[in-house]
Amino acid sequence: MRFVAAVLALVLSAGCASDVTPTAPAPSRTPSAATPDAEPTPAPRPLAGRVVVIDPGHQLGNSRFPRETSRLVPAGGFRKPCNTTGTSTDGGYPEATFAWQVSRLVVRRLEELGARVVLTRDTNSVRRWGPCVDVRGRAGNRVDADLKLSVHADGSSAAGARGVHVSHPPARAPWTDDTARPSRRFALGVRRALRQAGFPYATYTAGGDGLDVRHDLATLNLSDVPTVMVELGNMRAACDARAMTTSRGRARYARALVAAVREHLAG
Ligand code: ZN
Repeated sequence: MRFVAAVLALVLSAGCASDVTPTAPAPSRTPSAATPDAEPTPAPRPLAGRVVVIDPGHQLGNSRFPRETSRLVPAGGFRKPCNTTGTSTDGGYPEATFAWQVSRLVVRRLEELGARVVLTRDTNSVRRWGPCVDVRGRAGNRVDADLKLSVHADGSSAAGARGVHVSHPPARAPWTDDTARPSRRFALGVRRALRQAGFPYATYTAGGDGLDVRHDLATLNLSDVPTVMVELGNMRAACDARAMTTSRGRARYARALVAAVREHLAG
């Protein structure tokens, strides 16, 4: 009853009628009583030996470097601009900062679980730009990563547009024919984890199923390791922006992404 009331309060406080009810977390195991001479139990490190690339979208200073960010770079059989500025909430909270903050939470948890994590950028600064999308695309290749996850949020002004969706590459030789299948499996896991955390599928993408097959993204096309790009919501929608602009909301996103990574690597 208390859980139902808490969920109800969460939904009402978010004011977002189409939120899905989060799945109740599994009960945590009760720790056994510690004895004075007990050996400390090492924290479980189920991801030891795994390598994960986290790609926080954009860079805070991109808009100050139009020449650098508009330079054309290889994108997988065609060329496109190095990077874009990203979007923001109506209140001015930038996508680059949101992606960075969620990514940092994801990195911290994955490292606690034993993974080696590679970030595609190490700052979120108005004085910096990039890296370009081709560099992001190849970031997992040289470290032989198990997975690459690109973190973004969308900016749609369409009425009622909100929710999450996950982009994954089609099988397109010679670029993504080798990664398409595991990337789709990862996309399904990311979508499922976000829904279980209470985030509904995007209302404004084709099919309305929270998935988007994209052949035009260098970040996906140039990767030799399974990869997806997640749009964690529409920053222009008040409901989504509320979750994005609070530390509690960002922690919810991060927990879901970590769960998806864990599940994929366990499979
Ligand atoms: Zn973006």
